[in-house]
Amino acid sequence: MNIFETLESEVRSYCRGWPTTFDKATGSFLYDESGKEYLDFFAGAGSLNYGHNNPLLKRAVIDYMLADGVTHSLDMNTVAKRELLESFEDIVLKPRALDYKVMFPGPAGANAVEAALKLARKVTGRESIINFTNAFHGMTLGALSVTGNSMKRSGAGIPLVHATPMPYDNYFDGQTPDFLFFERLLADSGSGLNEPAAVIVETVQGEGGINAARVEWLRGLAELCQRHGILLIVDDVQMGCGRTGPFFSFEVAGIRPDIVCLSKSIGGYGLPLALTLLKPELDVWEPGEHNGTFRGVNPAFVAATEALKVYWRDDKLEKSTLAKGEQVGRELTGLVESYPDVPMRAKGRGLARGLQFGDARLAGKVCATAFELGLLMETSGPDGEVVKLMPPLTISDDELERGLSVLARSVKGALA
Ligand code: PLP
Repeated sequence: MNIFETLESEVRSYCRGWPTTFDKATGSFLYDESGKEYLDFFAGAGSLNYGHNNPLLKRAVIDYMLADGVTHSLDMNTVAKRELLESFEDIVLKPRALDYKVMFPGPAGANAVEAALKLARKVTGRESIINFTNAFHGMTLGALSVTGNSMKRSGAGIPLVHATPMPYDNYFDGQTPDFLFFERLLADSGSGLNEPAAVIVETVQGEGGINAARVEWLRGLAELCQRHGILLIVDDVQMGCGRTGPFFSFEVAGIRPDIVCLSKSIGGYGLPLALTLLKPELDVWEPGEHNGTFRGVNPAFVAATEALKVYWRDDKLEKSTLAKGEQVGRELTGLVESYPDVPMRAKGRGLARGLQFGDARLAGKVCATAFELGLLMETSGPDGEVVKLMPPLTISDDELERGLSVLARSVKGALA
């Protein structure tokens, strides 16, 4: 027994699928303490879009720390925060003609979601939120109330209320018109559906199994929200910061959510940072009405600013993500075609890709085999039936090809 097993809670999870002790990390690789190299197709669950210890971001953080820049500041004004806000406005918001105000909740994705839900309720004076089947929005009680997974929900210990799940895109395999059920309930005064404050949606469900909503469905949802005076919250915690190509995952649909949640890779270097973006007219907060101690992690501001400057001043990263995503998509389709007798499906958008197995145990076996072969991938989906591929966006062509060939060997091994 090691200290992790004796002292750390049973709640730990990733270390069970990857039973080694990691020590170092650079770019697309992690190394365990024996020096074994692992190619990382997990990328901190989407927190490491720019790779591990990215040298450009590291330089900025080290310089800041060596100069005794403020580390912790709650929501006091600091130079590092000013630079982040200026860069975010110039590089992200203005070029997209977006006029969001920026709120700093606590640093986790769940903090950004809680702030969004609370604000939507405050603005509308309504309680009810619409979420979607297989959604994942975090583990705090509000975020869990709009999350689908029954195992995660059961951890709440209290009823999770004030949220109504609706079918996500393609829930009925394309057999029903989009929003048939939702529209009907909204129109029917006998439906029992309370008037919703907001809809919360992921454009691609990461934890839910790499379910990519069609662009038409996202547009339809935005129109439905507008028609019915319901706020639209896009949770871009995992799919934002370029994971699907553009900075915001909803750009592809040309929609303008009322509220956007960002976390994970917005911190650039894997450092904790979250933002809740809100349309200016929704900014009805009283000073201090929603706060938290860790809303001013300045080294994360510095890394975030540098990441915006390095990767988002032009469309190079977006284009390369789309091209690499296509390559992964082709490889996955090729795998599906090579095993016509095994129920499998290729899924995803950009560099958020998945290989879904009819038999969930196979997905687990593929990831376990890949781990042995030095490739980190996790499973997702309600039964863990999807092998999830999320390499850093900065992965080189050679590394990507190497990972895909290990994936192919792992699938072969798991099916043998
Ligand atoms: N929202 C989405 C879409 C996520 O994927 C996650 C985490 O995976 C969260 C929210 C919660 O983020 P955190 O684990 O940082 O609280």
